Amino acid sequence: MKLALLVDDSRAVRIAGRRIFESLGFNTLEAGDGAKALEVYREHPEVDAVLLDWNMPNVNGLEFLQALRRETTHQPVVVMCTTENDIPHITQALAAGANEYVMKPFTEEIIRGKLQETGVI
Ligand SMILES: [Mg+2]
Repeated sequence: MKLALLVDDSRAVRIAGRRIFESLGFNTLEAGDGAKALEVYREHPEVDAVLLDWNMPNVNGLEFLQALRRETTHQPVVVMCTTENDIPHITQALAAGANEYVMKPFTEEIIRGKLQETGVI
C-alpha cells in the first residue's frame, strides 16, 4: 500500500485529506507543521506522496519542501496546497521542487487528477 504524508496546521484539512487519500488507496501519516513533517518523513522515508500546506507556524510548507529536497533518501511526490492564488508563489513552490499544486478547498477529484499527473497513482 502506498503511503501519504498530510501536512497542514488545520486538523480539519488533515481529516479531509486523510479521507481522500485513504479512498485513493493510501495509508496516511499526518503532521501539523513543517518541523514535525520533517521528523515524520525521516522516520518514514518510504512516503510516496505529500500533501503540503503553505501557511503553517514554525516551519512553513516552502521551507519544509526545501529541506525535503535536500534529503538524500527516496523522494516523494509533493502536491503543494495553498489559498494564495498568485503565480509568484506557485512558481516559487515549483522551483523548490513541488510536483503539483492545488488551491483550497480541494476535492477528491482534484487530488486524484493531480496524483495521476505525477504518476504516483
Ligand atoms: Mg495553514
